[in-house]
Amino acid sequence: MTRSLTGGCACGAIRFETTSEPIVEIHCQCRDCQKRSGTGHSSYLTFSRRADVTIAGEAKTWRVAGDSGNEKIHAFCPTCGTPVYLTFQAMPELIAVHAASLDDPSQFSPQLVTYGIHGHAWDRIDAALQTFERMPAG
Ligand SMILES: [Zn+2]
Ligand SMILES: [Zn+2]
Repeated sequence: MTRSLTGGCACGAIRFETTSEPIVEIHCQCRDCQKRSGTGHSSYLTFSRRADVTIAGEAKTWRVAGDSGNEKIHAFCPTCGTPVYLTFQAMPELIAVHAASLDDPSQFSPQLVTYGIHGHAWDRIDAALQTFERMPAG
């Protein structure tokens, strides 16, 4: 059975939907994710084909160079400010959506942690998850 994942920003102006399965689900503790989320990490479901994720509503974007030097393009709702999805200049087919923007956030099933080197003592993540100091190659 194909499950569908739906979600959107806090005010509902941006909505997304997909029936594809994420290729990876992560917590990221890099400083950029901390700054944007306002807390210790951000959580994402990453999909391999951007075209498989249908997005409704007009997001605004801004760019920041990640630790790896690759630009990340952050899309957020211009009305409520919620970060909704993320794309990568170097890997234009990938798209990541924020776990908490799912209508049913229990569909998020984290598999690993990236940039654990920047994690804070007050932001303890499930120790059973494989934790990478930075971004694993690829
Ligand atoms: Zn919004
Ligand atoms: Zn990050």
